[in-house]
Amino acid sequence: MPELRKDYILDRWVIIASERARRPSDFKRNIEKKHQVLCHFCPGNEKYTPNEITRIEENRKWIIRCFSNKFPAVINKGNYKIETHNNFYTFSDGFGYHEIVVETNDKKKQLWDLPSQHIEKIFRIYLERINYLSDLEGINYVQVFKNYGEEAGTSVSHSHSQIIAYNKIPDIVEQEIKKNFINNKCNYCEIIQREKDSYRRCFENESFIAFCPYASRFPFEIWLFPKQHLTRLEECSLSDLSSILKSVLERLKQLNAPYNYMIHYSSKKEDKLHFHIEILPRLSTWAGFEFSGTVINSMPPEDAAKFYRTGNI
Ligand SMILES: [Zn+2]
Ligand SMILES: [Zn+2]
Repeated sequence: MPELRKDYILDRWVIIASERARRPSDFKRNIEKKHQVLCHFCPGNEKYTPNEITRIEENRKWIIRCFSNKFPAVINKGNYKIETHNNFYTFSDGFGYHEIVVETNDKKKQLWDLPSQHIEKIFRIYLERINYLSDLEGINYVQVFKNYGEEAGTSVSHSHSQIIAYNKIPDIVEQEIKKNFINNKCNYCEIIQREKDSYRRCFENESFIAFCPYASRFPFEIWLFPKQHLTRLEECSLSDLSSILKSVLERLKQLNAPYNYMIHYSSKKEDKLHFHIEILPRLSTWAGFEFSGTVINSMPPEDAAKFYRTGNI
């Protein structure tokens, strides 16, 4: 029987079409993306990128490098105040900062190939940039995200992630903030307690847990939460976070899955959204119905979680 499910707290619905269910191996991608001939993210080509912002070095060579995006979605100019004219026309300048984090100097490696200690260093860069950009005038949110693979929105194969700091709290994060607390209790803290012992539980370590959400929109969608009620990246154990992410990425590598991830956190001190990372594998294409707002997912999260736990495809 297919099942209609609602997100834990958001007004977001999915149909889990379990009769269409396939084995994880049916989702596996085979296409290997070739590295660009002239890659601006490779060592030796630093001159092609805008000014460097920060880097981490090993043996006097950079291993992670952050710089402004050459083709930014938002720029540090203009008016960041959002206004409405004539009732219907709400706008501001596309204000903000758009940065690239090249995750490794090795063009042959993707994030899932890197050791968890290296992933931890990438998160140190995220943390440094979130802290710096959050304090700038006009910035309401620093969105850290990754696109891997063409289906996930990137044409550059050299492993990288992005940061867009802008004058708005993203919609979904804002809705999560609004619905996070009922009677002063964090919903996500309770959800974690329930999912800990559910069929959707995937991995757990000292301070982090990973599970496939009840109303997963994407096949193999998986969320990472600190088990304690922490609201900011700086409060989290980056080593536990990196090691649990590594476990997830090893499974995505088995499927050669394109994916996105996004960090959700409280950008304002007064909001106490439970910090988390959503990982969205892009193994299915949204068709017409999905644009109605309800999503059909042909991989039940309980089966996806089993794959994460066992690796059996
Ligand atoms: Zn490269
Ligand atoms: Zn919480």
